[in-house]
Parts: sequence; C-alpha cells; structure tokens
Amino acid sequence: MPVDKIYLSPPDVGPLEEQYALLAIRSGWVAPLGPEVDAFEAEVARRVGTAHAVGTNSGTAALHLGLLALGAGPNQVVVVPTLTFAATANAVVYTGARPYFVDCDPSTGNIDVDLLDEVLTRLRRDGRQVAAVIPVDMFGRCADYERILPVCAAAGVPILEDAAEALGASRAGRAAGSFGTAGIFSFNGNKIITTSGGGMLLTDDDTIAHRVRHLATQARRPVAHYEHTDIGYNYRLSNVLAAIGRAQLRRLDTMIDRRRDLRENYAKTFAAIPGVRLLGEGDPGDNCWLTVIVVDPDEAGWAVGELATHLAEQHIETRPVWMPMHLQPVHAGVEAAVTGAAERLFSTGLALPSGSAMTETHRARVEHAIDEFLASR
Ligand SMILES: *Cc1c(COP(=O)(O)O)cnc(C)c1O
Repeated sequence: MPVDKIYLSPPDVGPLEEQYALLAIRSGWVAPLGPEVDAFEAEVARRVGTAHAVGTNSGTAALHLGLLALGAGPNQVVVVPTLTFAATANAVVYTGARPYFVDCDPSTGNIDVDLLDEVLTRLRRDGRQVAAVIPVDMFGRCADYERILPVCAAAGVPILEDAAEALGASRAGRAAGSFGTAGIFSFNGNKIITTSGGGMLLTDDDTIAHRVRHLATQARRPVAHYEHTDIGYNYRLSNVLAAIGRAQLRRLDTMIDRRRDLRENYAKTFAAIPGVRLLGEGDPGDNCWLTVIVVDPDEAGWAVGELATHLAEQHIETRPVWMPMHLQPVHAGVEAAVTGAAERLFSTGLALPSGSAMTETHRARVEHAIDEFLASR
C-alpha cells in the first residue's frame, strides 16, 4: 500500500468551511466583493485591533498597495530583511523603489535592529529617500517592535509590517499586523488560515485604507461612467473565498493550539540532542506557524540536509529556511547590510511538518522517523 505523504503545512479545511462557502454561493454574491468580504474585514480588524482592514486577492497585493499608499516609488529605498519570502522584496520592485536588504538576529530570524538602525542612519546621512521599512514576523513570531518602532520613528520612516505568516501572534499584548502604519496578512494555502489565496491590509489610517481600497478596485472613481484618475489594480478578495476565511478565523485559536502542541513535541524530541535548537524558542506570542530546528553540524555530528533526506525517504516533507534575498540571482547587485546570520540559518535550519490538520498517526510517524534518524547517528 502506498504511504500517504505528510506535508509541511497543508490547508486545514473541513465541514465549517464547506458550509460557509456553500452559503456564499447560494447568496448569489459570486463576485470580487460582497457581504462576506465586508464581514471578514470587520472580524479581522476587530481581532487585530485596527480601525480598518482591506481584503485583497493575495498578501503580495496587500504589500504592493501598502507601499504605494505610503508613497514608495522610483528613486526611493525600502528596507527589507534579507531573510524573507521573495514576495516582500518583489512588492518593493513593483513600485519602482529599490530594496535594501538587512540581515537577521540569529536567535529569532527577525530583522537585526542594531543593523537596521545603522542602515537608516547611513541612508539619511547620504541623503537617500527611504519610503518604508518592512519588518517581517518570521514564521509567526513578531519582530522586536519595542526597538524597531523608536528606531524607525527617529529616522522618520513609516513601517509596513509583513505579518503574512503571523495572524494570531502577539508581542507584549499587541497583535501582529497592528504594529506599523499598515500591516498585511496572507491567506495563501500554506498559511495559518487560508482562503486558498488571499490577503489583507490592516491600518488605523483612514487615508491609507481609502487609498488601498481605491487602488485595489481598478481605481474607479465613484461615478457611473467609469472615470479614472489613477492606474488601478484588480486586487480585491472574492466573496466566496472571504466566506472560507470567516470559517477559518472562527477556528484560528484551535488551529494555533494544535501547532503549539506539535512545537512542544519537537522541543521534547530534540531537548537532549547536542547542537540542536528551535528557532525563536520561548516567545509566548508565537503562533507556531512553522517549527524550525537549527543544527550546528560540528556539535551534532550531522547536518540538517541528512535529516531532510531521511524524512523525504519516509514521505515526510521538510523545507530549508528561506534563501536570503541578497543571495538570490534576481537581486544581484542590490544593496545589503549582511552579517552572515541569515546565510547561516539558510544552511543550518530546517522547517518540520507543522500543519494544524496533522493527525496523531501522522505526528507519531514523524516522531518515529526522527527517532530512527537520531538513533542511527
Ligand atoms: C506568504 C508570504 C507573503 C506573500 O503572501 P501571498 O498571499 O502568498 O501573496 C509575503 N511575505 C511573507 C513573509 C510570506 O510568508
């Protein structure tokens, strides 16, 4: 009998999502707007504690429009962590601005704030225009906002928080997505909740919310004859998909609890293993989106790649940490302040199956495969 594959973070959808989607279809609102979008926006805004939320058809679209609303464009720089998913940097390039990559704190994978401070000081001294800083809440852990907020405020640069992976996470009692002038979530298939594809921009700023809504709906002016004074985009979230999002949001806390269980299991499995640590361990506000181990091959006597190969043979999916942006061929020559921390995490980190839909049978299979590997070392 073929063994079923265990995925890294597959969608966790069931009867509640089916019911919500069915009702949305039957309502007749099969359109890129509608009452489910309005309700989903209101529910996410309430959860996060922002005045506004604007649903988009991806997290990338929300980043793009957030940057445009902050005025990013040609001859400007946007500071981005080098350790992130490609979309963060792509959104900057879409606007005509240039990314400037900054390395990470090796203990969390989030942006290195001392380095960010240095970079902002240098850019200001050189008379460069910085449109925004985009901190990323890596793997569902908020960046160090106690320090990032004053550093950016002192430099007079707004923050666009990339909380694509961090819905439900918090730091010092404040929700991920609420730290910047604006923030974004992704509801892609592998994220903590999914609408199959979708995103959202969060802000307290009326002007930004209005501007993003306008740009996302083809920048159509509120007159009958389709008048346009801007180049717009077709970036709104589908009403049917927003309905799926509402069902997922109702289950968010349960899904985070399950991911946290898996995290605690991995912590036990690796507790006594020399040279292995869990990335960002001990943050109480972590939503545990992905559990990442970091392995020092000299101390452990093995490298993460060997564990990945062993698990792949057992049909268990794992994934390296993001390849840093400053190493990406497409960003060759882009300015970067690099310490080597992101590059080390890229070569020594491994994300393990972390999905909330994982059954106990699957969890036991992963645990057994890891135990088997460790015993063979
Ligand atoms: C997933 C992700 C995005 C992009 O979101 P999409 O909805 O896939 O467009 C952006 N930034 C980070 C850090 C992500 O993980």
